[in-house]
Amino acid sequence: MSMKLYNTPDRRTVDFVPLEPGKVMMYCCGPTVYNYAHIGNLRAFLFEDVLHRTLNQAGYEVKHVMNVTDVGHLTGDGDDGEDKMLKGAREKAMTVWEIAKYFTQAFFHDTARLNILRPDVVCAATDHIPQMIALIQRLEGNGMTYQAGGNVYFNTAKFPDYGKMALLERQEAPALSRVEADAGKKNPRDFVLWFTQSKFGDQAMTWDSPWGRGYPGWHIECSAMGIHHLGERFDIHCGGIDHIPVHHTNEIAQSEGALGHQWVNYWLHNEFLLLSKDKMSKSSGEFLTLQVLVDKGYDPLDYRLFCFGAHYRSALTFSWEALDAARNARKNLNERVLEWKAAGPAVKPQLGSTHLTAWKEALENDLATPQALAVLWALVKDAAIPSGEKLSVVLAMDEVLGLGLDGLKAPAPSEAPAQIVALAEARTRARKDKEWKRSDEIRDQLKILGWVVEDTATGPVLKKL
Ligand code: AMP
Ligand code: ZN
Repeated sequence: MSMKLYNTPDRRTVDFVPLEPGKVMMYCCGPTVYNYAHIGNLRAFLFEDVLHRTLNQAGYEVKHVMNVTDVGHLTGDGDDGEDKMLKGAREKAMTVWEIAKYFTQAFFHDTARLNILRPDVVCAATDHIPQMIALIQRLEGNGMTYQAGGNVYFNTAKFPDYGKMALLERQEAPALSRVEADAGKKNPRDFVLWFTQSKFGDQAMTWDSPWGRGYPGWHIECSAMGIHHLGERFDIHCGGIDHIPVHHTNEIAQSEGALGHQWVNYWLHNEFLLLSKDKMSKSSGEFLTLQVLVDKGYDPLDYRLFCFGAHYRSALTFSWEALDAARNARKNLNERVLEWKAAGPAVKPQLGSTHLTAWKEALENDLATPQALAVLWALVKDAAIPSGEKLSVVLAMDEVLGLGLDGLKAPAPSEAPAQIVALAEARTRARKDKEWKRSDEIRDQLKILGWVVEDTATGPVLKKL
């Protein structure tokens, strides 16, 4: 069976045929590192991880590229609003470079806790300015740009297929409010490739360019990095559905306008995680981070399983009750896996192999994760299948599920109780945040409870007094 994927430009599920047999080149829009990722953003990276792992399970070798947006992303997608990095820097009283470093590290800390595979290439926008300038020059050479008010714009009128993927021809052009209206634009959908006339007097990240000192527009970043790392044609490009009407539409226009041919064959988009019916957004202030879930006693993998339970193209509403259900399901699965491990080694599946085939078929059918989970639970409950077979099938499933079942060990009887572990973790966090007084208080509290925490090269170790 060939793999099937829902291709946004086609608005339907199609057979996936890579450019080179056995290999897949995919680009995923990465985080804008001006704040912590919220759990909605993390849903996007979990979807891309499941896609990567499913492609691997189907036998493909994957080259996965993800950018880190550390310059040029404004709070509004249509060149309006504030520079996100400047906003973050002002709020945290740090420089934009410090902000980028801090939140990039925080992002990878979160993705590691979610067992998200690190992309093969992680590329920062600020490391690819020459590639962006070269791409803009190529567009300029093709007559697709104009300059106005000091900025360089993409002229959407020069790209006849503009907005085809987003079906924009069926929609009215956005009416920009007077405050947002950019007097330099010939058409409301034109967008900035290079800013020299910064709206922000304190713009810290600027580079020399043929058009003057300035900085790139957000959209050109992904085109330049995609072409640089994956080439002038590649297989898959991913992102959240919010990227369809502007960011990806503009990426297609710039890349294909410069290259003169189709750039990417499959465009995949995940639906949003909603917070009690509202969109979760970083710029709106209140949002949930993975750390908030951890502080409430959840394991990041509970959230991974929660997301796996919904199809990536369905909106998913977050609730604590639903997260509790995922936690209970994961606890149940872990207990069963430990029972099977205790009963003997994994054995090559005979009876259980039909479940593994059904699992693969579900995932290879546009990543039908809810159906795949139903197959997993049917295997768990199937009394006819010996535990050694169940173990080997579940471990194979976990190559995509990513719940760390292989490394799962029964807790040693002498291990510290949950309350002590939680205190030790709170102390580690306090130390990380340089809250020394708080970390000392927690250490004293642990002592009263009969435990001492020792900081070793491999991390803190709890010992009974
Ligand atoms: P950003 O850091 O804002 O550039 O977004 C990173 C990724 O998260 C992009 O692919 C977005 O489309 C995606 N995204 C943003 N908000 C949500 C949400 N609430 N649910 C799912 N994905 C989201
Ligand atoms: Zn992008």
